[in-house]
Amino acid sequence: MDDKLAELTSEIKKCEACHLKENRTQVVPGVYGPKNSLCFIGEAPGFYEDRDGVPFVGRSGKLLDKMLDSIGFSRKDVSILNVVKCRPTDEKKDNRTPKESELRFCGDKWLFKQLKFLTPKLIVTLGGISLKFFFPTAKVTKSAGNILTLEEGYPVFATFHPAYILRNYNKIEEYDGHFQKIAEVYNQTNGEKSRKKSKRSEQKSLTDFI
Ligand code: SF4
Repeated sequence: MDDKLAELTSEIKKCEACHLKENRTQVVPGVYGPKNSLCFIGEAPGFYEDRDGVPFVGRSGKLLDKMLDSIGFSRKDVSILNVVKCRPTDEKKDNRTPKESELRFCGDKWLFKQLKFLTPKLIVTLGGISLKFFFPTAKVTKSAGNILTLEEGYPVFATFHPAYILRNYNKIEEYDGHFQKIAEVYNQTNGEKSRKKSKRSEQKSLTDFI
């Protein structure tokens, strides 16, 4: 990892700038792949992420891994981040969706700094909350499958959160199509070797993903 990115990550790990520090086990800065690759961005850590310090573990993480594998990528090839780095919890200490103010505060504080080092070819927002961080008026139901462009110049591909797909299996073919498009866009903008073709056609049911 680039020394400056390592320095930034160690700063993020020590962050106590907002109230979400109170119930977290640890900060989850994200995992980094190479520069100029794909960067997947979710909303915030949940129970398992908070416990393990890694984004997208548990069933959602497994589905994300399988979707990556279907387009010839693995976790080491991509960066996986969340907008909010500490687990938001409700009064019962269960997971909750981060509030707009929490997204704005943590995302503005750290996310763009991380992106500046990673310079992703394509940002992929996973779910409506991370999409809203970048495009406050966008709705994932309308934007999913499309590329939007940030003022900073990064292209952003909007798609669903894997947890949503696990609850809505009828969307799996659409999700697969999104990942195919992600690979196509990446390959079009990448001078390096193209990734292998999808293995999705070999996968017949949700049990292939979990
Ligand atoms: S949520 Fe973000 S801003 Fe708040 S303490 Fe955690 S890292 Fe810092």
